[in-house]
Amino acid sequence: MNKKEKFAKEMSNLLYQIRYEDINNSILLDSKNEQISEDFIYKIINDPKHADIMKARIYNSILEAVTQCPNDFLKDGEYCYKSNIYDHAYLVDSYVQAQYEHTQTKYVYQCMHCGSDRVQVKAWVRPNQGHAYVDEVEGDEMGWCDDCNLTAEIQIAELTRDAKVIGFQVIGEDGTAQDGEIHPDMDASFCIYNLSQARAMLDNDDNGNEQWRLLTLWEGDVEEPTMMFSGKPRD
Ligand SMILES: [Zn+2]
Repeated sequence: MNKKEKFAKEMSNLLYQIRYEDINNSILLDSKNEQISEDFIYKIINDPKHADIMKARIYNSILEAVTQCPNDFLKDGEYCYKSNIYDHAYLVDSYVQAQYEHTQTKYVYQCMHCGSDRVQVKAWVRPNQGHAYVDEVEGDEMGWCDDCNLTAEIQIAELTRDAKVIGFQVIGEDGTAQDGEIHPDMDASFCIYNLSQARAMLDNDDNGNEQWRLLTLWEGDVEEPTMMFSGKPRD
């Protein structure tokens, strides 16, 4: 362990301890601006498994800062505590908030074909009043999926509040000979592509009569995914 790492290690333990003691003086809000209960906060920060992760995050954050701007922390040739280092302790708060979001749920309209949430449903509107929305059309009406670019059955699903789309794959259409397979242009089953890469695979008609479809991937759907793009999933 070099000097910077040793300093980051000491500071991560210290800051975690200070934040632990300070946290009952602060109010932690969730993404709906509602207060996270003290019970929940202590359930997380008292759990050694979570504490280790939080300390590791503080450690990495301090190590990065001290590597980039060593002079900010140096005094008489030694790295030492400076008041602005406390900012790294708020990683405890953001971690607790993220854990809390994972326990909460949200309702999302989803395409039953690919799993995307970028969908449209039919609605009643008042055409002479600026198309004011009245209600959704009930029944067996098909909707539209902006990612599949197709009419699709749309249903409401309950997802964790932190659920987010991370990318796409192209797989065999259900009930065809390709069912259960990945598209030949995909590198592996754990590789995730952006929408334009996936569409290029779908547009590739070198594959005869094979039938492929889009699959929207949500965080957690693929264990240890390999991202085959940089930027946003829908670029
Ligand atoms: Zn879709």
